[in-house]
Amino acid sequence: MLNHKMIERLAKMVSKDYLITSFYLNVDRSQKNHDPKIVLKDLLKEKRAALNDPKNKERYTRDQLIAVEEDLNKIEHYVLHEFVHKDLHNGLAIFSSSRAKFWEVISLVHPVTDYLGFDYDTYIRPLSEVASEYGRYAVVLVDSKKAKIFDVRQGFANSHLAIEDESQPKVKFGGQDGLQERNIDRQHDELVLKHLKHVAEETNKLFTQNEIQWLIIGGRQQIIGQFEPLLAHPLRKQIIGHMVVEPDASLNDILKKSAEVSRAARDTHETDLIAKLKNEAHAKGGKGIFGLQPTLQSLRRGGIHTLIVTKGFQSPGFVCHKCYFVGTPEEKNNGNQCPICAIDAHDVPDIVEEAITFAYMQGCVVENVSQNSRLKLMGNIGALLRY
Ligand SMILES: [Zn+2]
Repeated sequence: MLNHKMIERLAKMVSKDYLITSFYLNVDRSQKNHDPKIVLKDLLKEKRAALNDPKNKERYTRDQLIAVEEDLNKIEHYVLHEFVHKDLHNGLAIFSSSRAKFWEVISLVHPVTDYLGFDYDTYIRPLSEVASEYGRYAVVLVDSKKAKIFDVRQGFANSHLAIEDESQPKVKFGGQDGLQERNIDRQHDELVLKHLKHVAEETNKLFTQNEIQWLIIGGRQQIIGQFEPLLAHPLRKQIIGHMVVEPDASLNDILKKSAEVSRAARDTHETDLIAKLKNEAHAKGGKGIFGLQPTLQSLRRGGIHTLIVTKGFQSPGFVCHKCYFVGTPEEKNNGNQCPICAIDAHDVPDIVEEAITFAYMQGCVVENVSQNSRLKLMGNIGALLRY
């Protein structure tokens, strides 16, 4: 399953010697006029032709191009003969480099745009965008004696734990009218509290051991009110919503409701993030910048904490494969070279994609925001800085 660490690891696959082939295929069966096998055939045809393009023969060594051809064959064989489509999987990503003995297949719940390409680094931008859009959250459903905890990744729920605690008070003695009843009530309340503490403990454990962003609590109003204060304080800050549901509600209903809560939380998160960026960028000594060139400059200095980019925003630029300079065309020196080490610059159609990869390599947080957000007015790219 996709997570930040996995994208970071793929971003670090960058090389100076060998090329890496990246492949994305939409395998969503509900799209009737999209046949993945035909798309694959067309993409392969196009890339095989590119291997014979004189420009590429000049740009890459013979050995590098032969290795890419091996990657293309391997991907073709995998999709046609080995890939097993599962209902929940709508996207497929493959990264291959025969020379580096590297091969990675990722199944995605989210459909992706078809893509096949090779470069000195992996093309991870689609994965980054999916990761931003489909945050990972947990749902806790709780009543007075039972609880269920789900861990939802990319819209797909994994049942993490089902708890059932003892709730029947033991009647030990007879007594005066009313006293026994009060005792039973007290014992019952104690058992409920013990159960809720148990659920809180398991929830805390899930969050400490996993990379989970948010928490949604579901149940009857009164139980939610009793349960929430029992959670560890940092975890309470991760609660994005409550769902008032009956204990026997269907899993589908619960997932649908929780997806709405998480979408709303994602929108709020985005708005807050951009507002924060704007404030930081305008404050004296603030830790925020925006616009392509200032952002690339900070990235090169290693000063970025969170890179914020509009989904799909592209701009041409260049990369230096010696010192990993990422820059806009204006930053090249006169001889069309890297301004630092004066070797030939490697032109790229989209420097934003390179910047995203570079940010993951440095361990930055990467946030991809929707195309109609206020970041558009700030040049579609910006960053919150470390210092
Ligand atoms: Zn350089």
